[in-house]
Amino acid sequence: MLIPTVMIFALSVLVISLISYRLLDRTVQTKTNANLDVFTDLVLAQIGHLDIILNVTKQTLKEKHIAIAKFIEYILENVPEEDITTEELQRLARPLDIIELNVANKNGILTSSNVPTLIGFDYKAFESTKIYMALTTGALKEISEEPRRSVLDDNTYGEINQYTGIARKNGGFIQLGFNASIIGRLQDEINIGQTIKETKLGDNGHGLVLSAGIITAHPDEALLKKDVSNEDWYIAINSGNGFTWLDINGGKYYAGYKNIDGHTIVGLVPESDFYRESHNLLTAVKIITAAAIFVSCFIGLIFFYNRNEKLKALSITDELTKLNNRRSFLGYMDLIWKQNQRLKLPISILMLDVDYFKKYNDSLGHLEGDKTLIAIAQCLKKNVKRETDFVARFGGEEFVCLLPFVGRDEALDFAKTLVQRVESMKIIHPMSEVSDFVTISVGVASAVPNENDSQTKFLDEADKALYMAKKTGRNKAIAN
Ligand code: GH3
Ligand code: MG
Ligand code: MG
Repeated sequence: MLIPTVMIFALSVLVISLISYRLLDRTVQTKTNANLDVFTDLVLAQIGHLDIILNVTKQTLKEKHIAIAKFIEYILENVPEEDITTEELQRLARPLDIIELNVANKNGILTSSNVPTLIGFDYKAFESTKIYMALTTGALKEISEEPRRSVLDDNTYGEINQYTGIARKNGGFIQLGFNASIIGRLQDEINIGQTIKETKLGDNGHGLVLSAGIITAHPDEALLKKDVSNEDWYIAINSGNGFTWLDINGGKYYAGYKNIDGHTIVGLVPESDFYRESHNLLTAVKIITAAAIFVSCFIGLIFFYNRNEKLKALSITDELTKLNNRRSFLGYMDLIWKQNQRLKLPISILMLDVDYFKKYNDSLGHLEGDKTLIAIAQCLKKNVKRETDFVARFGGEEFVCLLPFVGRDEALDFAKTLVQRVESMKIIHPMSEVSDFVTISVGVASAVPNENDSQTKFLDEADKALYMAKKTGRNKAIAN
């Protein structure tokens, strides 16, 4: 019963740890996916067709940059049919901290968020930051060539203080101006390494930018411009967006990838980085599991041992009186019998029986009868003092007492004492014919056992003496 319980407990601990490991794995994957998402978005925002200026130096800017990238993409996917109002542009620009937003509609008409405010505009209110406005009118012609980004210096209004981003797609055009102090320093090249670090692709993570099967950007210069169009992993991620495990040059990577306009941006996290976190936690789970199994087995063993001890005690003890039972008495007698046979020493046995006990039960009930049996047992135990003496419940209302090394006379005296002691407990017996109280009769048998004697015969003799005691008036002891 207990062993299965312990096993079930240990097994559940094991199952729970396995499930938690799975969940852990899932969590790490979700987290990695989010990081790879951020990474690919950032790189997307930096490559040619979305040429807005991003220099990822602060974690806090990241979300805004992504939002801006998405905003630009949205505008270019949905090139406005009509003129957009200045107010509308201002409303769009404000949450993204775009200080200048120029958008062309389908007809190539440009609207600027800043035109109405040019009149009476107080640049001093911006302190060191001044706004560059040169491109707000007639700019379409000037920037008709490839998309570009620029730091505009030496402008009408003074210092270098604004980045502009220009994006063109689907015949649409969008130009954005950012406060230089917000955006930070412009980087001419796509700084993949830095971006990866920022997005926590793992200690050894890195990114690839592929253009139609060619690696166009990679932290490792040796890989730049490498044609990968025939490689399995390239073919696997060549279309669509997603996350997958890739084998690249013999190394296993968890990869997030996105494809836009012939560009594939791939964020790679080495397998070891991916699992590091979950492995650490798994080790903790393993230790806890092992400890739980060990503790449960230990507790199980203790219970098992205790139960065995209890069973052993039960097998030699009488349940009601807690005296030794008949079985243990016979075992003990066998031992003493053989020993005294060898040593030629005497042995005495007392067979005790409660007088008129049936009547006692009849008058006071079985429960009272039980209590009385317990009281008699305690009385016997108290009086049988020698270490080698052995008292037991023989069955029913009969007790037995073995006195090794005790001869007939001494045994008889002792039996008489017991008779007296029981009566002097003064347990009222309403129906006894010999006393007002509960009494016992005792038969004594004594012998120096020899080879011809048998234990059964010896017990029989005690029984016969008891019969005599009953027959001759009860509440007395008689020896064979
Ligand atoms: P006697 O003086 O001749 O020994 O008469 P008795 O009534 O004691 O003898 P008998 O053998 O006729 O009855 C023994 C009774 O002991 C019958 C039984 O109900 C009672 N008895 C035996 N074991 C138990 C027990 O565990 N609890 C109780 N309450 N009574 C018991
Ligand atoms: Mg009896
Ligand atoms: Mg009796």
